[in-house]
Amino acid sequence: TRIRPSSKRCAVIGGSGFLGRHLVEKLLGKGYTVSVFDIRQSYELPGVTFHQGDLCDKQALLTALQGVSLVFHCASPAPASDDKALFQRVNIQGTQTVLQACTEAGVQKVVLTSSASVVFEGTDIKDGREDLPYAKKPIDYYTETKIEQEKLVLKACDKEKGLLTVAIRPHGIFGPRDPQLVPILVDTARRGKMKFIIGDGSNLVDFTFVDNVVHGHILAAESLRPESPICGKAYHITNDEPVRF
Ligand code: NAD
Repeated sequence: TRIRPSSKRCAVIGGSGFLGRHLVEKLLGKGYTVSVFDIRQSYELPGVTFHQGDLCDKQALLTALQGVSLVFHCASPAPASDDKALFQRVNIQGTQTVLQACTEAGVQKVVLTSSASVVFEGTDIKDGREDLPYAKKPIDYYTETKIEQEKLVLKACDKEKGLLTVAIRPHGIFGPRDPQLVPILVDTARRGKMKFIIGDGSNLVDFTFVDNVVHGHILAAESLRPESPICGKAYHITNDEPVRF
């Protein structure tokens, strides 16, 4: 038996992660029923159903997506890894599997967490817009597969079939429980490796507070309707001002 998807029932793939958990908490506060799908369970929260599984496993996904109308896909291997095969398996094949499972389960909307690095060629970008082309020479395997992942998700947007998609492209994310950015900076500084400046000290880098990233995801989800111009598009997301480094 198939449960009819409810508009307030959503799933967060990668919901045990840094961004995913913030998203889950905000969604609960907004009255959504939330299922988390992740290879690990990192917390417990009343009102959240956890499904432990690999997103490359369609059957496991189908169980978690029963009755779900909205899916946030924010799972990825850690960007610092150089395991090319893992990135390809999870970000490319895995995303194809997620999209197939969404179609089979009758999911109506998919919001992908992409990355601003998909347009980064190694040279400065200021006020970069979404019409910038994808990087021809992505900086690492992570980015190479984030590009393919984003293309797959946006291409899957099909009003006739009833699946709408959108991608959000944050750059660095900071905030409570951040496992990477600030801890790595602090650790590097402690080891005495932050005593030099690259450039003349006026370089800018873009970081977004995690709640703003969450807000952007939820706005995208709630605006995603067949007549909406955001269907099948990617959006950069940031705070007001970039952080001066
Ligand atoms: P995170 O590592 O904290 O969370 C990722 C989650 O994905 C983890 O809980 C992990 O267990 C899960 N996961 C990994 N492989 C999986 C698999 N095969 N099946 C199921 N779950 C799996 O990372 P994050 O910082 O929360 O990043 C979330 C998303 O945001 C990612 O897509 C990342 O590319 C994107 N992003 C992050 C940043 C940042 O600064 N943190 C910047 C730009 C984009």
